Amino acid sequence: MLDKLFGAFSKDIGIDLGTANTLIYVKGRGIVINEPSVVAVNRKTGQIIAIGAEAQKMVGKTPGYIMASRPLVAGVVSDFEVTEQMLKYFIDRIHKESFTLVPRPRVVIGIPSGVTEVERRAVEDATFNAGAREVYLIEEPMAAAIGARLPIHDPKANLIVDIGGGTTEVAVISLGGVVASQSLRIAGDKLNEDIIQYLKDEHRLLIGERSAEEVKITIGSVWPQSEELEMEVSGRDIVTGLPKEMKIISSDIRKALMRSTRTIINAIKDTIEETPPELISDLIKKSIHLAGGGSLLKGFDVLLSHETKLPVKIIDDPLTAVVRGCGVVLEDIDKLRDILVNSDKEPDFK
Ligand code: ADP
Ligand code: MG
Repeated sequence: MLDKLFGAFSKDIGIDLGTANTLIYVKGRGIVINEPSVVAVNRKTGQIIAIGAEAQKMVGKTPGYIMASRPLVAGVVSDFEVTEQMLKYFIDRIHKESFTLVPRPRVVIGIPSGVTEVERRAVEDATFNAGAREVYLIEEPMAAAIGARLPIHDPKANLIVDIGGGTTEVAVISLGGVVASQSLRIAGDKLNEDIIQYLKDEHRLLIGERSAEEVKITIGSVWPQSEELEMEVSGRDIVTGLPKEMKIISSDIRKALMRSTRTIINAIKDTIEETPPELISDLIKKSIHLAGGGSLLKGFDVLLSHETKLPVKIIDDPLTAVVRGCGVVLEDIDKLRDILVNSDKEPDFK
């Protein structure tokens, strides 16, 4: 009875613990946190100095003893303690606004579909240690599909591709389950690295990760655009060691991005090949749905459509799809508990 009473105030939350961005949805309120998954740590003392957007500002600019790092690499927890601290910080921020008697939150959290049991446990444990009362895991492509309001329970194929910072997830979903999938540790971060490498090899220019990301977002494309874009990029001349600024054009960057883009497209094609024949015909009638920040890379949708001969659609607000999907699950847990990874635990959501 008391539990029911408290339950009414309880702030059940959905979390998208992304390599690049962490988003939190609070039941009944919507998305309340949307910050980079970055933590700044003082290496001398081990103390955390900043988390989220504040820590992001320090990336690449900190003195030697302050390390701004991303606790997740390629979609999985690389630094357990820091991941836990980051989650705790965000959960506390939401929880503090409640009465002290309110129970700790129940959490639905997304995990990449390709992770190992150990990696899965790491996310689960970090979420418990960060203050969750109950933890329910959902595969990210499933959450993205739900966030995109795809009819996942229909006996039809829904093809969803989520291109994040660390991983690209491809999944065909039908009757509430994943029937074919691929998880690839090539996504937005790799594209940034490709740009860094290309400018180093071709123009002897060394730039940082943040500049590379800016280049990718501003002029990066993988299909010829109606007009070529250009921008000034500054970094270090690798020969002289001195600062150097130069003009970069989009067709140049396209060359840098082609190889990784091909790998992503091949993974999508492979997943289509694995799709049972009875479902293949649905794919011709329906679109490939793109989610995640990486799906915004200019021309990716056109290239993918050209390569697969299928219609391609970037879903609305692709960066928030996973957390919105976790939110839908929270709001309607009774109908959706079958799709949770650890549904055997019988959640008692009210
Ligand atoms: P994650 O789920 O791993 O946190 P997100 O879905 O939040 O990742 O997407 C972050 C990735 O999307 C980053 O690699 C970022 O560079 C990339 N990204 C965001 N906007 C764009 C854009 N307009 N063009 C290309 N890439 C983008
Ligand atoms: Mg993601």
